[in-house]
Amino acid sequence: MPEGDSLHRAARRLQVLVGERVGVETPHPRAAAQGVAERLDGRKLLGVEAVGKNLLLSFEGGLVLRSHLRMTGRWQVRPAGSPRRGRPWLVLQCTNYEALLWNGPVLELSTRGTRRLGPDILAEPPQFERMVGNLRREHRDRELGDALLDQRLVAGIGNKWKAEVLWQARLSPWRRLGRTTDEELRAALQAAATLMRRSLDGLPHRNDVYRRVGRPCPRCGERIRSGGQGDANRIAYWCPGCQV
Ligand SMILES: [Zn+2]
Repeated sequence: MPEGDSLHRAARRLQVLVGERVGVETPHPRAAAQGVAERLDGRKLLGVEAVGKNLLLSFEGGLVLRSHLRMTGRWQVRPAGSPRRGRPWLVLQCTNYEALLWNGPVLELSTRGTRRLGPDILAEPPQFERMVGNLRREHRDRELGDALLDQRLVAGIGNKWKAEVLWQARLSPWRRLGRTTDEELRAALQAAATLMRRSLDGLPHRNDVYRRVGRPCPRCGERIRSGGQGDANRIAYWCPGCQV
């Protein structure tokens, strides 16, 4: 699952196309059906921005292309005219480089951005107080681990970082928001911003709890557990020994 940090990395790679007039093709039939190429071809790319798990590409004329990678999508940037195998969803071509979107299940063209997302955890600086405010307006019985994945409240945190961040902050994913203090929310958000920023900068991360069911907790030695959480039943990982 591409998380916020990998989206930001893609946004960085795509910066080489910004400011250029781009040729746009949609070789994959499902992408072609949306008429994206017809509307964007030949326009200047004005900016590429990662917002949460979305990549927003702004073109002249006020058009914004939103790409959400879901589980499988991937952006590739390479020298223009490199040999191509297969059918990418989208090809953006400029003088020296081309960007290819593979398996990008969500492509949406609009005249506005996606502004229903919460503040981006990887913004510089992150707007922690707005995120805390958003979490505070949720129902007090909602579980902390579930709320952190809600992109309307905080954009960018996926299942892996949720697990790692809550372990770092010593908070159980099952804790109810009503029983979590502002301090604790800030600590979790701060941990998310720090860990994800490090990952964005290419520093390796060794998982402490994510996908480590039954292994000993690196902090207290208790066995790591897992369980489905939230409406989407995403798997939470936690240590029952030191995450209260
Ligand atoms: Zn532990």
